[in-house]
Amino acid sequence: PMDFEKATKDELIDRIEEAGIVGLGGAGFPTHAKYRDAENIDTVILNGAECEPYLTSDYRVMIEDTYHVVNGLRILMKTAQAEKGLIVLKEGYKEAYEALVKECAQYDNLQVFLVPNQYPAGWERQVVYRTLKRRYENYPYECGVIVNNISTAVAVSQAVLEGKPLIERVVTVSGEGVVRPGNYRVRIGTLASELIKQAGGLAHDLDEVRIIAGGPMMGVAQKNDDFVITRALTGILVLPGEHKYEVPHKRPVGDVILDILHFTEHDHRYFVRDEQPCVRCGSCVFHCPAGLQPALLRDAALAKDEVRLGKLDVLECIDCGTCAYVCPSHILVNDAIRRGKTYYQVKVKNAK
Ligand code: SF4
Ligand code: SF4
Repeated sequence: PMDFEKATKDELIDRIEEAGIVGLGGAGFPTHAKYRDAENIDTVILNGAECEPYLTSDYRVMIEDTYHVVNGLRILMKTAQAEKGLIVLKEGYKEAYEALVKECAQYDNLQVFLVPNQYPAGWERQVVYRTLKRRYENYPYECGVIVNNISTAVAVSQAVLEGKPLIERVVTVSGEGVVRPGNYRVRIGTLASELIKQAGGLAHDLDEVRIIAGGPMMGVAQKNDDFVITRALTGILVLPGEHKYEVPHKRPVGDVILDILHFTEHDHRYFVRDEQPCVRCGSCVFHCPAGLQPALLRDAALAKDEVRLGKLDVLECIDCGTCAYVCPSHILVNDAIRRGKTYYQVKVKNAK
């Protein structure tokens, strides 16, 4: 245990590094690296505005570990030598909001901030703009801000105040395909199958469910439950298998095209889930929160065209999955863009 009020910046950063703490919101970026060279930081933000539907681990942590959330923030502020601390959560998180406001009341420099209940409310860029009206080019530190996830702050508090390394985390197990959905505190490295067993097991046979590591928008579909809980895994989603759809050719082609043009793509009676050709409807462009052109980015990614990927700002994609969600052709647009982004990064790195 360490008295953080008396500790130096380097001592705190070393402790965070030794405890193996990474961003627990899904990014998995080493927390100490954010603070090592940080200068001129005036605000630390704890981001509790969980983006995706179904995931509630941070919500639970804010209610049950309020003490560590607030002290984690104070430790991170001391580490960054920041004067102000903000905790950001969604409007619907009433119980967590009340608990945090009560705990923060004893400190003048802490504030709890609510953001709208919409996706992707937890997008870092949006959180910084909504709370401080600041914009940045690449990273929040450019405008004097460091953003950390709520559970990361808890891990920091436990590492500094109790000397506890990061060996466990809270994981949401949710979806209609699991018997007892809930939030579970599990050791890092636990098998997903064990965790699902703890959650009452599968509500259907394994071949009748879809298992997703992460949330429904940004998570990665798994072949089975044979994978481990990592530090960055926020949740496991178990959904019932595909519904039976009537195949499109049973309807006149003209009607189907009209449905697509009028965005009635979620009428599951008529549409199969297989990918259909892009009809250039522009829906993905209209809905992309980062202002990108997902259909064109996908084309560039499939063509492995790093020049076009660069021109279309592939690195600005936050992998929110909105483009795939709204696509009437059921194209996994963000999946291709994600691969294009990796390809672009490797190409750019090799070119240097
Ligand atoms: S995943 Fe799609 S919608 Fe989301 S930021 Fe990337 S391109 Fe835009
Ligand atoms: S990728 Fe999908 S949403 Fe985007 S333009 Fe093509 S059909 Fe429309």
